[in-house]
Amino acid sequence: MDLGLKGRKAIVCAASKGLGKGCAMALGREGVDLVINARTKATLDAAAEEIRAATGAKVTAVACDITTPEGRAEVLAAAGPIDILINNAGGPPPGNFRDWSIEDWQKALNANMLTAIELIRLTVDGMIERKFGRIVNITSGAVKAPIPVLGLSNGARTGLTGFVAGVARETVRHNVTINGLLPGPFDTDRLRGNMKLQADKAGIPYETYAQQQAEKNPAGRFGTADEFGAACAFLCSAHAGFITGQNLLMDGGAFPARSEGRGRIVMRLSRTAGKPRIDRRRASASDDAGGHRDRREHQGRGAHRTAPQGGQVPAAAGGGVPAAVRRGGAAADSGADRAGQPASAVQPRDLMAGVQSAGAGGVEQPG
Ligand code: NAP
Repeated sequence: MDLGLKGRKAIVCAASKGLGKGCAMALGREGVDLVINARTKATLDAAAEEIRAATGAKVTAVACDITTPEGRAEVLAAAGPIDILINNAGGPPPGNFRDWSIEDWQKALNANMLTAIELIRLTVDGMIERKFGRIVNITSGAVKAPIPVLGLSNGARTGLTGFVAGVARETVRHNVTINGLLPGPFDTDRLRGNMKLQADKAGIPYETYAQQQAEKNPAGRFGTADEFGAACAFLCSAHAGFITGQNLLMDGGAFPARSEGRGRIVMRLSRTAGKPRIDRRRASASDDAGGHRDRREHQGRGAHRTAPQGGQVPAAAGGGVPAAVRRGGAAADSGADRAGQPASAVQPRDLMAGVQSAGAGGVEQPG
């Protein structure tokens, strides 16, 4: 299939390795002129050479930090007017929110939310004028299924997703689309680095741990950067002008598959001396067997939820807003919902929608 992209110009951020490089490679194959970026010059130059050799595309490498105003200015100056923007940057570290300072949050928000918004702001009007634009934000499966230890990522990426849900519906009439591409577990340096740490912690060989993790995915494996790049190229194609404000999850089917109890938490609301109390416990097989009944009962009274993740209710107007923002869920207190309902209006029973897991299906996931 000819994607109709020959001669288009693209910026691909954070593209010397992994998913960004996969996107650059796929766009290069379609005859797109590329400006690629990453901080480490040697790795970036090597990636540029590899993409040139494999695709014959024109590739300009700009070594800088895309999360700084200077870095963004450098990349934009090297590219000139562009047709395609792929937003990407390194993900924030895992941890416990009790340890995070305002500075930690500012860093995550800057890298995984504000940098993308700023690059959209600086390029979208030119795209609108030229009547063609494709913007893809590489976010994370955490947008649909928040991962407890990745609170910084959950927060920053759902913030970006919420912003894009609005603006994507304003630009589409000018043939400018904005979509999110949500990786589940992909075989990149980031995933391998995370798994190495976990394997060391568990005292088992890396290969054994990686194999165990891959087996937990319905596909029985991790995704590849090539697969990710191909999906990105299609979203950028001439044929994808009617797809906007969407969040395409690529996770081998892990969401909303149930984990086998491992890592999934069931929460129950009860009252002690008139005061609401939330009890948490590990999910059991009976929760899975009774899940549907529980959800039905829940409609009126709000007692017990076993829904697998917060993202399974479709958005009222097209799937743009993450469930964590819309329904409460694991990030119920994060602000207003789609209809402008303030967080304070979220009912206690809505809090029960937040069922946490160690990543979709309990699989290692560097969101
Ligand atoms: P990766 O293999 O570690 O590659 C990251 C790339 O980003 C490298 O080219 C890196 O080069 C560049 N980079 C990092 N920070 C940058 C900055 N400030 N400015 C410019 N370039 C920067 O990671 P990946 O797996 O492709 O992940 C890409 C994104 O997807 C991350 O945000 C990650 O959290 C998210 N994600 C990944 C997965 C997965 O399974 N792989 C799952 C969910 C979400 P330099 O270090 O030289 O700058």
